[in-house]
Amino acid sequence: MTEFIDKCLDKCLSGKALKRSEIIRLLKIEIGSSEDEYLRKAARKAAEKITGNNGCIWCAVGMDYAPCPMNCKFCSFGERWELIKESRHINKTELLRRVKQYVDGGAAYVVLRTTEFYSLDMLLDYVPDIRASVPGDYAIILNTGELDMMTAQRVADAGVYGVYHALRFREGQDTPFEPVQRIKTMQSVTQTDLNLISLVEPLGNEHTDEEIADLFLNAVSCGAKMSGVMARFPVSGTPYGDTEQVSDEKIAHVIAVLRLSGGTSVRDICVHPVTKEALNSGANVMVVEAGAIPRDAEFSQNEWHGMDIDSARRLLTECGYRVAPPPAKRSRGTKKCPCEGSNLEKFLQPIILHALHRHAGNGYYVYLTIGKYVTYGETVPDKAVTYRYLKSMEKRGLIEKNEGVYSITEQGEECLENWRRTLNDYSNTLKILTKQLEK
Ligand code: SF4
Repeated sequence: MTEFIDKCLDKCLSGKALKRSEIIRLLKIEIGSSEDEYLRKAARKAAEKITGNNGCIWCAVGMDYAPCPMNCKFCSFGERWELIKESRHINKTELLRRVKQYVDGGAAYVVLRTTEFYSLDMLLDYVPDIRASVPGDYAIILNTGELDMMTAQRVADAGVYGVYHALRFREGQDTPFEPVQRIKTMQSVTQTDLNLISLVEPLGNEHTDEEIADLFLNAVSCGAKMSGVMARFPVSGTPYGDTEQVSDEKIAHVIAVLRLSGGTSVRDICVHPVTKEALNSGANVMVVEAGAIPRDAEFSQNEWHGMDIDSARRLLTECGYRVAPPPAKRSRGTKKCPCEGSNLEKFLQPIILHALHRHAGNGYYVYLTIGKYVTYGETVPDKAVTYRYLKSMEKRGLIEKNEGVYSITEQGEECLENWRRTLNDYSNTLKILTKQLEK
């Protein structure tokens, strides 16, 4: 097994995501065994090489403590559980006070988190106010409802760095959401300049290794730059109120596996709740949160479970990380106005997947073939961009390269199927919008 772990570490450091079968094999290592210890040490080594020992603090402000009609079984806000007696919303003054305190304390990320139907306009209105009142090198993240591609672009244009969104465990059974809808939002986010952050959550003891691997691979194939693990909290009064929380050892074990599984494309691995074991097993991002918290029946006036920004900073430092700002925002180069068709480049991924679905081939074959797709019209695709995409898709496990020839993987086929559905819906929306713009 130690040889296999070494192989996975090498693969990770060479930038490649592990295959589903490899991830499952690592997950199946017995927790607490000497192999587990070896795995966690290897993952910490990977974190050091990939992040340069930069650790980040993710500070979330729960904006609305209010019943949510979606009634996800693990969430204390479900209106059916009747846990919230009096709603409470964070106002601008309180928000700015909290953001300032977090940024002064070294937060890399300031996250505005809401229930499903909070007004996006209101959230976006806060962004310039935050920037004007709180200078500093930090990223603003939204964690809110579903977004289509156009809305995600609006979020990006407002100066937001990224969006948190996840396909959760047993989505569609423990929640009323269609998994496809959740995936579509994740894909919409990465079709813009936004970063996607997507954890494997909320982890309970009944979730299988296969389920863990699948959620993680979904996040990777959607282009998540940060992933990790969040445990499910048994909030009394919710359907999972009587279950046992996953142990810290299990969380650290899963963190170690995910650190090795994402290659270098998932640079940051976040853990919640944090422990030293998890930080010493490859996690480099930890959470501080206050306000409305879906893991608690009460509104948290102070930081949840006493983990404030000073304690977070201390803990990261004790585990060998320097408290760092967020990585530079990814850029898609010089931006054309969307009215000039700048979004068309974004369809390169499904086009490459489709070209390789029809026929495996080398980079030059892909470059020549994709020029025949309709989005290119009279123009030819950019060769450097094509090769960059191929490299990044290979890292994310969507395609693989053998002796110079690319072919689509099983994960890539699934991603292509998601694309078909997403583009179909998008085209229906465009038809309606085109009609409306004619009037
Ligand atoms: S998890 Fe989100 S969508 Fe589900 S009930 Fe809670 S706030 Fe609503």
